[in-house]
Amino acid sequence: MDGTLFLCATPIGNLRDISIRAVEILKAVPLIAAEDTRQTLKLLNHFEIKTKLTSYHQHNEKSKSVELIEHLKLGKDLALVSDAGLPGISDPGEVIVKEAIKQGIKVDVIPGPTAFVSGLVISGLPTSPIYFGGFLPNSSKARQEELKKLKNLIATQIFYESPHRLDKFLADVLDVRGNTTEVVIARELTKLHQELLRGSVGELIERISKTPLKGEMVIYLAPPVLEELDKPADWNIEVDALLGTGLDRKQAIKALADKYGVQKREIYNAVMKNE
Ligand code: SAM
Repeated sequence: MDGTLFLCATPIGNLRDISIRAVEILKAVPLIAAEDTRQTLKLLNHFEIKTKLTSYHQHNEKSKSVELIEHLKLGKDLALVSDAGLPGISDPGEVIVKEAIKQGIKVDVIPGPTAFVSGLVISGLPTSPIYFGGFLPNSSKARQEELKKLKNLIATQIFYESPHRLDKFLADVLDVRGNTTEVVIARELTKLHQELLRGSVGELIERISKTPLKGEMVIYLAPPVLEELDKPADWNIEVDALLGTGLDRKQAIKALADKYGVQKREIYNAVMKNE
């Protein structure tokens, strides 16, 4: 029988946030694949875990997956950890999970902290629907493109960003979504200097220009409000998209009229013109 691949969550700042089961699994498996073995060694030492470590990071993810799948095929279990939080969330993991599933190997999770969910529940913003975008591209042009694609998405939009790009990120949000967009920044979650900053994007830009923020952070954008939405250029595309989700035409038109604050007749006329 094949071994099991355990995706094992580790703390995002406070060592005591590891689960009892995570410690047990990390002790029991014969091998732990870690994003940064030196970083994980500190965690293992703290919990007196003596398991052998091997590296599995973004630069060897593909080739190393082959080797680790062979290990699992020999009937040996494997735990995968990243530097912090859940592996596979803006961290290596996806490649080996896909391959293991393809090969019929059992994949399991030892749940625990992940930064974007931890900050979300104390952000005060809607916890559903949500959109998690991970890290957006570094270039402002590409980042704005991504933000534009999300402009009409009614969901709390969540991103990871490094502190030295925060000002540029917020400037792009201001450009794409406008000055009043409500933003929450969750900084240094579970650590000594944990802080939640809330305000309009304009207010936060001003605040950060005076005192730049340090540390790790998650950025939450409130769902766009009616005034922020771009009315679709072609209602037919929007209606078709909703028909694909199982709504009938009447329901789709009503949903769009509610979302964009327009009369149902406007959408109905546009759809009829195309028939
Ligand atoms: N796998 C991790 C998870 O489950 O959240 C994410 C890893 S990703 C490489 C690192 C990013 O996560 C940071 O740049 C930051 O945006 C966010 N992050 C991680 N720890 C955090 C913390 N304690 N407070 C706020 N954000 C954090």
